Amino acid sequence: MMFKNSLFAFVILNFFASSAFAVYLSDTERESRNADFNKISERVLAQRSGSDIIGNGAGLAEQNITYLFRHLDRYLILGLNQGEFLDSQQKEIVRKMLKLVLKNRFNDKALIFLNSNIFEDFFHDVLDPEERIAKTGFSSEFPIFFNINQVYRTGLANEVSSLLGILIHELGHQVGVASHHYLDELSADLRMLFESFYSSVSVDYEGLEFSFSHYKEHGRSAIDRGVLSIGKKTFIPFSVNDSNYKCPNDGRLHSMNWQNAHFLNLEKKKDEYTVKISVWAEITCSTLLLNSVTSMREKLSFEFRLKKMNENEEFNFHGMDVSREDFKRFEL
Ligand SMILES: [Zn+2]
Repeated sequence: MMFKNSLFAFVILNFFASSAFAVYLSDTERESRNADFNKISERVLAQRSGSDIIGNGAGLAEQNITYLFRHLDRYLILGLNQGEFLDSQQKEIVRKMLKLVLKNRFNDKALIFLNSNIFEDFFHDVLDPEERIAKTGFSSEFPIFFNINQVYRTGLANEVSSLLGILIHELGHQVGVASHHYLDELSADLRMLFESFYSSVSVDYEGLEFSFSHYKEHGRSAIDRGVLSIGKKTFIPFSVNDSNYKCPNDGRLHSMNWQNAHFLNLEKKKDEYTVKISVWAEITCSTLLLNSVTSMREKLSFEFRLKKMNENEEFNFHGMDVSREDFKRFEL
């Protein structure tokens, strides 16, 4: 009886141990796969530095991916803080991803954009007939390589949530998870969360697509962020701060959340463009001297001044003014 019980316990333990570890590659497997990938990766990097594809101004997809990568910690932390939203194994993986992101987010070698017309074989796998959209090794020492013309071809350049999913998937490989399927599920969960903190609106004007992305921030002293993008090249990230917005009584901006963002007006005089976006904002300002916090609900408009540089959809950004259109104010 004793024997039976302990055998049972052993089987159970073993089952949990193997299901917990199955998701990661073993150290030896990881090392050998990294050694293989290192050869390919070095060849591609050498070939890339010899070719003239870097100088072309980064397009919308490259800028979206870089921006997301730099802010990815927020969405990983959000996932970790959602109680049982992720299971314990997913949380462990997300914690490892968070470390990598914090280490690499301003490393300009962390993301590499390749043209698969030149690097044709790189995005094809022996076991997988489909052309990959991104690829990396099982270590954060490797860059995440993006098949950038495939991103454009599949219409993902401004599909922010999909791009976020791809980044999370590839980071999962870097922390040692091999299963594409497992990572697709994890990134689908995190994308769902991201989407409740993200929205965008677009409008066509003079044959160009203007779109405004609203990144909602969470937590205390959260200040929402926005990106105005135009066509295939222009990407203008911004937020409201004490230099472009004046709190009452010389207060400091403490938090700002937007609602109902929409394009109010677009104008063009020769090559000069004015783009006006309107939001309702919940704002708190703090005044140290008066030791008070003021809460307000204001209708704000963001007026962007831009100049079209060429037919390549590139604009120069000349500034953005914040003005109050309407407000309701109450002291706390
Ligand atoms: Zn994969």
